Amino acid sequence: MNKAKISEIFFSVQGEGLYAGSAQVFIRFFGCNIRCRYCDTKFSRFDEYDAKALAAAAGKLAQRYNAGYISLTGGEPLLQADFIAEFLKKNKFKKQRIYLETNGILYEDFSRLKGLIDIVSMDVKLPSASGVRPYWLEHEKFLRLARQHDVFVKAVVTGATLFDDIKKTVSLLRKAGRNIPLVFQPEYSRLSEKLMKKIIKFQIYAAGYLPDVRVIPQMHRIMGVK
Ligand code: SF4
Repeated sequence: MNKAKISEIFFSVQGEGLYAGSAQVFIRFFGCNIRCRYCDTKFSRFDEYDAKALAAAAGKLAQRYNAGYISLTGGEPLLQADFIAEFLKKNKFKKQRIYLETNGILYEDFSRLKGLIDIVSMDVKLPSASGVRPYWLEHEKFLRLARQHDVFVKAVVTGATLFDDIKKTVSLLRKAGRNIPLVFQPEYSRLSEKLMKKIIKFQIYAAGYLPDVRVIPQMHRIMGVK
């Protein structure tokens, strides 16, 4: 039986993206395939779980807190896609929707989860902000698969973000079609009037091409919850 490396399992209020404010049980998968400059996730430890033990732990929290979502987050959960497939096939969560938070790079791994995920929150990695190499092609392939789900795209914007990356993001979403919402998320540790002015300019530009463009900061950090 497959085992997964899990950094933590906890209940909280979703702080990012279109579902901000909803009650979720978070399963944080250990490890990531890239290293973003602004990453705030600590990868120091993990416990190993099999599918049954993980379902029991997540199910217990979901029941205790009436959570409507099970969030698979990381790190990058798709590094452990085989385990996730087994976990979701063996355990049907009847009252919770399955919410995947991903950096939108590992499209082949994502394709193995067909029919198992309800909502996809896909990050687009802007090279100028994240400091990682461009992943436009991978993002494009990922979105082609993800658009069959309830999906939105999130872009972290920092002081270093270039307009050219925003133009490429808009073109990526237009190519994917299906009116996928775009969320700009300001880098929380650098929140300032200057950054907000910049981000609102990006929103005005993107809204000229896309039907749903929002600016949403990390609400959990503002609320002081995990
Ligand atoms: S993809 Fe997410 S978890 Fe991975 S390094 Fe970037 S911000 Fe951190």
